[in-house]
Amino acid sequence: MSDAERGVRDAEPDGSDGDSVVRDGGSAIGDGDSAVGDGTSTIRDGKQTTYSSSAFDCEACLDPADAFAVVGNEIRLAILEALWAASDRPVTFSELRRRVGTRDSAQFNYHLQKLTGQFVEKTDGGYDFREAGRAVIQAVLSGSLTQDPEFGPFTVDGECLDCGVGLQARYADEQIHVACPDCGRVHAGWTFPPGGLEGRSDEEVMAAFNQRARHLLCLAADGVCPACNGRTETRITDEEAPPELEVGVEYECLRCGHRAHTSIGVALLDDAEVVSFYRDHGVDLNTVPFWTLEWCASDRHTEILDDDPWLFRVTIELDDERLAVTLDEELAVVDAERSATTTP
Ligand SMILES: [Zn+2]
Ligand SMILES: [Zn+2]
Repeated sequence: MSDAERGVRDAEPDGSDGDSVVRDGGSAIGDGDSAVGDGTSTIRDGKQTTYSSSAFDCEACLDPADAFAVVGNEIRLAILEALWAASDRPVTFSELRRRVGTRDSAQFNYHLQKLTGQFVEKTDGGYDFREAGRAVIQAVLSGSLTQDPEFGPFTVDGECLDCGVGLQARYADEQIHVACPDCGRVHAGWTFPPGGLEGRSDEEVMAAFNQRARHLLCLAADGVCPACNGRTETRITDEEAPPELEVGVEYECLRCGHRAHTSIGVALLDDAEVVSFYRDHGVDLNTVPFWTLEWCASDRHTEILDDDPWLFRVTIELDDERLAVTLDEELAVVDAERSATTTP
């Protein structure tokens, strides 16, 4: 195994829960899904969290096992696939049967009726998707259920913050890890379902990865779980921060237990002051890979002004100008000030 391989392999999650990605790999930005909530309690930072189990024991709902049983059939999946592939919906019974290729009309009707209700709806013009039917197709397209590719390492934008060596990425366990091939420092780690690799070059995959991680983090920061849409809580933590960081941010879903960890700086990626600071210097911050920004991938630009309540200052320099942004414990920007950097 080359050093390059080892550097990233050491950072791979053990697959048991969401913590491991960051804890083992120590990336400045990372995520991972923990086991689906079953009502278990965990105690973290002295605080007890009980994840919701209502989706599993909901009396008014279709039983999850029954729902999977309905779609766990070749003809029914073929019906959903045919609906998805149709250029126009609704699709008539005979057209749908023609597309699926089932000769026996009674047999076809039997399977279509099983789907009708939760997955498919019957309208005057024929059959159309319901959200659950679409979700089945999207689950297949995501690739998570049927694929498990591994590749890399390959060269990506950016240099190691510790030793200046060009960074490399590796894909395994549905995650992309960006790390230094020499010292192993992880600069980013995030899920990227295999379906997203289709039809993209390595470069395009990394551009999509950059967007995906940023947007899902924004969602979590705004209180919505990127995995299950449950409520997320934002916590500043010095105890559970990745090893590269003195203090970090933890987003945790109170419903499914999904957790993500980032640096303080990452919270500024979509901040208006920071975005316009970059724009004034001719850079579209949205297209810059977040792991190449020192104020995101480390906390070297983050000053702890107070720890009760938390108050931070992140300083960003571009050309001959400096932007100092102050964030409170909610990671809201309370002050932003530009000044000229002194020329040496
Ligand atoms: Zn390095
Ligand atoms: Zn969730």
